[in-house]
Amino acid sequence: MTLTEDEVRAAVAALLEPRDPDAPATVLGAGSDDLEAGRRWLSAAAASGGWAVPTWPRRFGGRDATPDEARLIARVLRDFAVPDLYPYAVGLSLVGPILLESGTPAQQERWLRAIADGSEIWCQMFSEPDAGSDLANLATRAVRDGDEWILEGQKVWTSRGLYSRWGMCLARTDPDVPKHRGITMFAVDMTAPGVEVRPLHQMNGDEHFTEVFLSEVRVPDADRLSDLGGGWAMAMEVFAHERASLGGSGGGLDPGAGEGWLHRLAREGALADPVRRDRAMRILGQQRIADWTARRLAAEAERGGDGGSGGPGGKLRQVAIFKARTDLAKDAQGPAGMLTGEGHVEFLTGPSMSIRGGTDEIQHNIIGERILGLPPEPRVDKGVPYAELRRQGLT
Ligand SMILES: Cc1cc2nc3c(=O)[nH]c(=O)nc-3n(C[C@H](O)[C@H](O)[C@H](O)COP(=O)(O)OP(=O)(O)OC[C@H]3O[C@@H](n4cnc5c(N)ncnc54)[C@H](O)[C@@H]3O)c2cc1C
Repeated sequence: MTLTEDEVRAAVAALLEPRDPDAPATVLGAGSDDLEAGRRWLSAAAASGGWAVPTWPRRFGGRDATPDEARLIARVLRDFAVPDLYPYAVGLSLVGPILLESGTPAQQERWLRAIADGSEIWCQMFSEPDAGSDLANLATRAVRDGDEWILEGQKVWTSRGLYSRWGMCLARTDPDVPKHRGITMFAVDMTAPGVEVRPLHQMNGDEHFTEVFLSEVRVPDADRLSDLGGGWAMAMEVFAHERASLGGSGGGLDPGAGEGWLHRLAREGALADPVRRDRAMRILGQQRIADWTARRLAAEAERGGDGGSGGPGGKLRQVAIFKARTDLAKDAQGPAGMLTGEGHVEFLTGPSMSIRGGTDEIQHNIIGERILGLPPEPRVDKGVPYAELRRQGLT
């Protein structure tokens, strides 16, 4: 039987307050690091109807919803005060879909329900001091020892590291093949001996950002997420999910916030100035275009198309809108905008948007090479075994 809007509304209204359209949204958890509100919602949603991850199977906290039903639920949820799910985003948006696509039955049983109900948080341990845009250069090693792997290395820029129970971690299992081919994906228990998480403080006040040191960390082979040497292909899938969630319709960067920013500026009198009003209208125009484009590409993808530049293009658009909007909010506060207030956290989060999830330059490269078919960048290390590459610190 098809789900109706009234059913969804009634079920969700029993769990959440209506959304105040003018309420300030937190930005990717910035400045709040609040875990409890999200956990309460996820746990209630998983127990009562699978509203948070509707397309997941019921036994894992979803409701086996069709894409149409999932869209209906997402639309209704926009009218309710859904807590900021940033702390849970790696599990919900990246690890969950990957496990559903290719996890073993035991991995699905072990992890999916705990992701859906918010009881276990995941982080993404990809970047390293010498592996960011050139991620395939990563040096963390995994050496097999019977039914286990021994991981040794350092990760950096690990968001959510401070409160994560699991880390989705790329490590090199074969240095004797070209760099993209010798990488494997593991799930690392962040409480295991040898895992040391050190905080890195961000200028917007975030406390969860970290660097993670792995010293002889033992990981059971059962917690290997990809095939041996299949870590790069899995990482590409993860990035596609990440770009979709950062650049999708509804503004993954600012979930549900919609156009509340504009109402707030108007109410505060910030749009009385014609130049600021002009800036605000340009941003609004860009926001509507980004939203419509995301919806068109999602519809195309559902009809079997490849979604065009939906991923990298969507991320670039949302990042540009976010930065223009937070710049405007800061300017509207005058000198005070540099010191304190709601615009402060948003404004100081802005620059990171062009870096996290792949930099703007890398998104442009992807559009150029994979979508427009332009000549690729020269790659001098193509085909060279990782062990033979000249790397920083080595001769
Ligand atoms: C707030 C925040 C959160 C993050 N969270 C995580 C996380 O949870 N997990 C994780 O693994 N990583 C995370 N990262 C890391 C992020 O993915 C990397 O910072 C990013 O990929 C860039 O890598 P890098 O910092 O090493 O910079 P580099 O790769 O050294 O780049 C430096 C500059 O050179 C440019 N550049 C590099 N290569 C090219 C090229 N081929 N063409 C053109 N320009 C190029 C870049 O665009 C950039 O401007 C996070 C980063 C930030 C800022």
